Amino acid sequence: MPRLLALPGDGIGPEIMQQALRVAHALAARAGLRFEVDFDLLHGASYDRHGTFCTQAVLDKARAADAVLVGAVGGAQWDDIRMPGGPECQDGLMYLRHHLQTYLGLRPARAWNSLLSLSPLRETVARDADVLILREMCGGAMFATQRGRRLIEGKQQGFDMTAYDSGEVERFARGGFEVARMRRQRVVSCDKSNVMESYKLWREVVSDVALEYPDVEFENMFADNCAYQLMVRPRDFDVVLCCNQLGDVLSDLTGVLAGSLGMLPSACLSGNPAKGSAFGIYESTSGSAPDIAGQGIANPIGMILSVGLMFEHSFARPDLRLALDQATAATLAAGIRTPDIGGEASTAALTDALLEHLAA
Ligand code: NAD
Ligand code: MN
Repeated sequence: MPRLLALPGDGIGPEIMQQALRVAHALAARAGLRFEVDFDLLHGASYDRHGTFCTQAVLDKARAADAVLVGAVGGAQWDDIRMPGGPECQDGLMYLRHHLQTYLGLRPARAWNSLLSLSPLRETVARDADVLILREMCGGAMFATQRGRRLIEGKQQGFDMTAYDSGEVERFARGGFEVARMRRQRVVSCDKSNVMESYKLWREVVSDVALEYPDVEFENMFADNCAYQLMVRPRDFDVVLCCNQLGDVLSDLTGVLAGSLGMLPSACLSGNPAKGSAFGIYESTSGSAPDIAGQGIANPIGMILSVGLMFEHSFARPDLRLALDQATAATLAAGIRTPDIGGEASTAALTDALLEHLAA
């Protein structure tokens, strides 16, 4: 029996997790699977109980699980707490990503026909866009080991050293080309190799890996231009390879294609996605949305679609991910929407409707 570890986290995390698990059970029933689900605390919820953002027990449970579901983490009350230890000790999710080496962050975003009018982009620009931002999850500036504060000529300086080694970039790039083979065989890698040394290495290594995938169309692009092109002609993009920090920013940006940040799923995998049995942490792309937490109005779709990614990449059932996408489109077309996408439905009511479409 596959084992899931559910870590609802903070803010809207528990609200969207509860609904996503209903969908997970419905899909599992369809697949003839039964899950064993264990729950635990992460980040703020864990800090308040245990004084640490992720306990050893949670890490052990995650290691023993077939997949981990995370709601969302964070909140102003925990953002400035500094824990002893490296960068991974400052954030519960980063702790799991680091120790489980889930380096491949899949962040798909697509335009939904019935939500086109919500996009700040013209409908003719956003229509049929289907982009996957692939974010490196375990390195770069966010995991800088050389970081801190120091006094330079009487002024405070904060610093985080951006560093990538060839091994980190190579495994990530290879994962990216494998993902592209499962999609439309197009890869753009973005960087700032025009001005930064770490990105020069990034570009060299990715370009070398690209030679092993002659069937995949490949292009390097400077990241600032890439952000612009993504908004001007999103349909021309398929998979976009990004370092940890650029991927964080660009993936939120693609929320404009989907109509809301709350629509975006994500998967962080520790191995080749093409095999369909990679270990993964599945989470919505957005944060804990403290401004709407506790109101029962958070959009659960990002979290629910993350469950779809779990079936595709950890349980080798891409057909169920597809069925879920179709049920989601039908729900949106029927006008059942949370406030962020122009409706009045609650988190639970949207999920009720989605489950009905899934069963139909
Ligand atoms: P956020 O993503 O939480 O929210 C940004 C905006 O999008 C808000 O207006 C919010 O209401 C809206 N939004 C996000 N998800 C939504 C949903 N499912 N339904 C409807 N609206 C939604 O970003 P923030 O406010 O900058 O950060 C809040 C906290 O989340 C911070 O503590 C931050 O560190 C943390 N964070 C966590 C993650 C994660 O868990 N993976 C990611 C990003 C930020
Ligand atoms: Mn983010």
